Amino acid sequence: MRLISFSRRDSTQATFTEAAVREVLTRELDDVLKRVRRLDAALRSEATASVAGATAADVFEQAQSVAMREARRVSVQRLTDRVRRLRAALARLDDGRYGQCDQRDAPIEARRLRALPDATTCVRCQHAGELDRRMRR
Ligand SMILES: [Zn+2]
Repeated sequence: MRLISFSRRDSTQATFTEAAVREVLTRELDDVLKRVRRLDAALRSEATASVAGATAADVFEQAQSVAMREARRVSVQRLTDRVRRLRAALARLDDGRYGQCDQRDAPIEARRLRALPDATTCVRCQHAGELDRRMRR
């Protein structure tokens, strides 16, 4: 069984088995896909309902359902992005790049990967990236 070693600075757990990481990623991907499908179905049935009941609904209700649809659409977008990131993480696991920082030759901290298994950067590069984005605004 292949072991992936992460940052040695994290003394609590320096290695995970590839199978354990794959299980976490796959389970999360399944979960996110289910949520996307549910939201998608809700959006679709709402679209039909609002066409059918357009004359009956008052302005307030319409505004409310528009806001709700918009919130659902944003959620779908966010979850779709997460699906893409989880699939990318599984691909990195396949070709042995999982747990390596994208920005420099360094392992991603185990603590960070436990919190965010699809992370592509170490804590230092993540912070540098956030600072960079904030300064460009
Ligand atoms: Zn880094």
